[in-house]
Amino acid sequence: MKKRWWNERTRMLLTLELAVVLPAAALIVASVLHLENIHRDHAIEALMQRDFTEALVISEKHINEKAYGMVKQVRQDFPQPQEACSDELDALLKKYPYVAHAFYYSPQTGVIFRSREARMDDSDFRAEVDELQHMMVWMKMEYEPTVKKFRSMEEGGKLPAYFEQYKVRRGDKYLYESVVYFVVPQKPGQEPALGGFAFDAEYLRGQFFPQVLNTLMAHNLSEEKGTSHAGVMVHLKGDYEPLAACTDWDGGKPEVEHIMEGAFPGLVLGMKLRGTTLAAMGQHFVRTSFLILGGLSLLLACGILITYRNVNREMALARLKSDFVSNVSHELRTPLSLIRLYAETLELGRLTSQEKREEYYRIIRKESERLTSLINNILDFSRIEAGRKEYEFRETDIAELVRNTLESYRYQIEQHGFTFEEKISENLPPMRVDREAIARSLLNLVNNALKYSQREKYLGVHLYRENGSVKLEVVDHGIGISRPEQHKIFEKFYRVGDPLVHNTKGSGLGLSLVRHIVEAHGGEVSVDSVPGQGSKFVIALPVNVAANEAKAVAVQ
Ligand code: ADP
Repeated sequence: MKKRWWNERTRMLLTLELAVVLPAAALIVASVLHLENIHRDHAIEALMQRDFTEALVISEKHINEKAYGMVKQVRQDFPQPQEACSDELDALLKKYPYVAHAFYYSPQTGVIFRSREARMDDSDFRAEVDELQHMMVWMKMEYEPTVKKFRSMEEGGKLPAYFEQYKVRRGDKYLYESVVYFVVPQKPGQEPALGGFAFDAEYLRGQFFPQVLNTLMAHNLSEEKGTSHAGVMVHLKGDYEPLAACTDWDGGKPEVEHIMEGAFPGLVLGMKLRGTTLAAMGQHFVRTSFLILGGLSLLLACGILITYRNVNREMALARLKSDFVSNVSHELRTPLSLIRLYAETLELGRLTSQEKREEYYRIIRKESERLTSLINNILDFSRIEAGRKEYEFRETDIAELVRNTLESYRYQIEQHGFTFEEKISENLPPMRVDREAIARSLLNLVNNALKYSQREKYLGVHLYRENGSVKLEVVDHGIGISRPEQHKIFEKFYRVGDPLVHNTKGSGLGLSLVRHIVEAHGGEVSVDSVPGQGSKFVIALPVNVAANEAKAVAVQ
């Protein structure tokens, strides 16, 4: 049984809410979140950039401190100014594995330049030795101002050293080397000497930087918020190939860079997120946002479409309802005026022949019967709409019910000039039906057959058993119904827009009632029709009694 709260209005409101308001609200919420996310992402990006930059500055400080410590150690072991100190320099080279070349200059000794003996087999290394030796000439020319500069640095509490970058060739690649110059520590009264060494390129690449970067990642940087998922590397300026990187560096271009000064000029420290990049995170966010917004927009579009269709349907229904009112008023007025006219004539007593009088009485009865059946239809319809329609199922001889119903109509049928054919099978099983409702369905169908037949006036009513159901067929050779209209005619208020139909009185309720009644009996009604040739309406009721009752309970 239809619940009362479930009416057109609730359905419309629910559709509107589910199909439009919800997606629209979700769309608004998603857009706001989206904006907030963009804002937050920018903030995160800025924060990461800041964290990364800070981390790189700290790293540079650590690297420089470490390198300065190494320089201090070597400087401390440097030979005192004397005539020849090649052996002392060789001893230094042996002691400190990170020193590739060591050199010394004082006005008395001139430039003394020593390189690792063991590496002299390597032609690249030999070329490096030649080049560096040539560079040392400046010490002779710049000796005095350089000493003076270093002195003032020492007085200022700084390490009296100066670093210079140097690229060394290894096959078709270049490695980085840092060359440091300083003033050799001296005893008072001694003449100042310049010294220095070149950090071994292989040592820097293979040991110093990997070690220092990993230590930084493990201790210092991971404590910094925002950099715990980052990797760090060092590369030559203008060449993104990493010179060295921490072990979990996963390749790619660094996102934040810092140019080094101090012990390793010309090197760049780089940092990026491991596994992803800020740009990739941004792209992922944009993709998901597009998907969410696209999905919601699609939902909204569907919702609008559904609502549009609903509104259209409601408007059509409203139109049908207003047609219904005018149709019904018309249907009520005609019999009423006929009844009044004939009753008045009879009242005046002018009719002399008994035959005429009887005809008038019959007309009055027939018209009032029509009125009753119309009003019954409307009452039934309103009960069904309000969900109050109840059926009284009783064991019935369906053949007798059909025969009786038709009998009271036979005269009228024949009066209209119809050829009437009635075929009722014998031995039909008893059925549990609501007698009145089934009779009304049959009358509605017969009435339609009479109303919608023009030239060929034929009415056939057949009752028979077929495949577990009892079928009641009403056949006419009337105007017929086109195929697209055939499923619509069972809708409430619906009348075919044909002028032939419009000239016929009707409310558009009959067939919708028939369908409701038949479905309440667990059966179904169908139509088979060809325009201009006629129609066949078939009511099929299941014979199964138990099923009948079950359905009846469900419908109630
Ligand atoms: P009405 O009061 O208009 O007859 P119904 O619900 O009984 O309302 O029928 C709905 C519409 O179905 C009718 O308006 C008519 O267009 C069409 N129709 C019904 N029965 C027939 C029929 N036997 N032949 C042709 N058209 C029919």
